[in-house]
This record gives sequence, structure tokens and C-alpha cells, in this order.
Amino acid sequence: MRTTHEPLTLDQARAYRTRVSLLGTAGGPPWWDGSDRTGISTAIKVGDAVYLIDCGEGWGPQYRRAGLGPDGFEHGIDNLRAVFITHHHSDHTVDYPNLLVLAWHNGSNGLRQPIRIIGPGDRGMLPPIFGERDTPPEVFCPESPTPGIVESTGKLLAAYATDINDRMRDNAKQDLREIFEVSDIVLPDGVGDDPNRDPSPDMEPFTVYEDENVRVSAILVDHRPVFPAYAFRFDTDDGAIVVSGDTGVCTNLVRLAEGADLLLHECIDLDWADSLLGPGSPRPDAHLLQHMLAAHTSAEQVGVQAEKAGVDTLVLTHLVPGNAPRSVWERAQQDFTGNLVVGEDLMHFGIGRPRADGGA
Ligand SMILES: [Zn+2]
Ligand SMILES: [Zn+2]
Repeated sequence: MRTTHEPLTLDQARAYRTRVSLLGTAGGPPWWDGSDRTGISTAIKVGDAVYLIDCGEGWGPQYRRAGLGPDGFEHGIDNLRAVFITHHHSDHTVDYPNLLVLAWHNGSNGLRQPIRIIGPGDRGMLPPIFGERDTPPEVFCPESPTPGIVESTGKLLAAYATDINDRMRDNAKQDLREIFEVSDIVLPDGVGDDPNRDPSPDMEPFTVYEDENVRVSAILVDHRPVFPAYAFRFDTDDGAIVVSGDTGVCTNLVRLAEGADLLLHECIDLDWADSLLGPGSPRPDAHLLQHMLAAHTSAEQVGVQAEKAGVDTLVLTHLVPGNAPRSVWERAQQDFTGNLVVGEDLMHFGIGRPRADGGA
């Protein structure tokens, strides 16, 4: 039997041991005109521990507004246990440096253990050049053109060395290297060996993190030419939550999401894409349009994916463009018999049953 998960107020959500908060629901790097959606980021709280997925623009203040700290925001990220990055596109990572260098000032003094940061490793090779050009572009940073999360974190911290040394020497701040433990996700042997041919080969989900609250598994999704691009599944005693990351229609995503309570899925507006590159647009480019749509899932396609996976509730997030009217996203209902929710910033969901004491 399906259980419906409707959006809750923060007070209602606090009654649940496991809850999900949409911190930001906009997809893509533009500052969407007329939209007040924050960049893509999601938090899952299980008991006292918080797990963060992606660090889109503005996630930090949203984290505070979502009431995720252990004791108001005075202690901010004291209880942030782990951060998962789906892929290395800037709309998912632009405020990752905020986590690294602002942690000191937003609660990390009370940490009992390092915050785990888990994300994609090195792509291993440059993506192919799209379109027809006479000369290939110069490679940016040829000595390491496709770094993984461990290497890019080291480089980000190095860029802030002046601030970091100042605060460690002048304000006696804890060494940042003790606060974070960063790992590249290692794919199972033989999977993803040829990302330019197939960035999301048929595979089984594999575990990337586990503690007393949650088991997190990952699978490669089709966000070509980006590789690796992951979707994550969080299995808790209260239920399962899946975050799609950025993906086109993809069998691996359906496999990962099978039977989940909540599927948080990206979505793109087909009409908007058409107005940019379609036949009647100022710059028609059928090839580029097809390229863009292959890497994302439209409102017309996402309901089919959720139906195949048999999820209870489909929540649309990472909305591109961030300023499209609600009616665009509601099209997802036509092929989905479950509960559809069009995501908004600071929407909360409870998983499992509310605690009898209301979480007080
Ligand atoms: Zn994105
Ligand atoms: Zn992306």
C-alpha cells in the first residue's frame, strides 16, 4: 500500500525521526529572473544527524532556516555528518567553499567527529568536443583537467590559505584538515571504463557510506558528457529517499529508486528548451537541443520514471528554468499514479511515523 508524503511545516516535520528538507530547488547556473528559488541542495536528517546533498548557491542560510542545527543555529553544523556531491557541475558545487571555510564560524567548533565529504572522483579523460569546430579549444588546466572531489577540495583550500592561516594563528581555530574527511567515490571494478561511449552503463547500486542511521548507495546516471554523475539512495529504518542528481531518462535511476518512499528528481521544461533552440527560436539548433535534452528529464518523462520505480511520492526539484510556472511541472502527473509534489524551497517531508511526543 502506498503512503502519501505531503509537504509539512517545519514544526510538523520535527515530529519525525527521519525528515527531508529541500534547501534549494533551482537547477542550472543562471540567476533566474523572477525566481526566488535557491540553488540546488537537499538535507536529510535522521535522529540528530544531518546529511547534505549538493551545495548549490545559497545552501548555507537555507540550512539555518530549515532548523537543522542541534540547538538552533548557534550550533549550526555541529551535527552535519556527511555531504554527498552528485557531480561536478557548478550549480551543485558553487557554494561548496562556503562549507569548507565558513564551517568554523557556523558550528564546527562543537564537532565530535569529522564531517565526511563524498563525491565523484577524477573523470579520467576529457569529454569529447561537441559540434563541428575547426580547431579544438585549448585545454584548461592541462596538468589536471578533470579533478575529483579530493583534489578539487585541496585546491580550494589552498586558494583560501591566507584566511585559513590567519584564523588558525590569530583566532586559534582548529585545523581544517581535522574537520573534514574527503573521499572520492570509487566505482566497482570494470564499471565506467569508457565514459565517452557510455557514462551510465547498466549496473547495480553500490554502498558509498554507512553509519548507525543510514546506508547510502550510489549509481551512475546519464548526464552526458558529465562523468561520473551519481544518484544517491538513503535507506533508513523509517524508509528510503532517492535523490536523482542531474540525469536524462535512465534505467539505472529506476533501479536505484525502486520502491522508495520519496524520489526527489530533477526536471527540465521542454517548452523552454524549445524556445531557446527549437525550430521557431532565434538560434535554432536541433543537434544542441537534443544534446541538452538527453542530459535532463522533462516534466513529460519524469512521471514515467517514477511510475516504473513504483515510488510513493515524486518530488520535483532542480527545476530548469527556475522561473517556469507551476503548471509546467504539474504535467508530470499524467503518467504517474502516485503523489506528485512540485518542490519549493524549505519544503519538508516526514518519513515513517511521527513520534508520539511530537518530537518535543
Ligand atoms: Zn544541475
Ligand atoms: Zn549538471
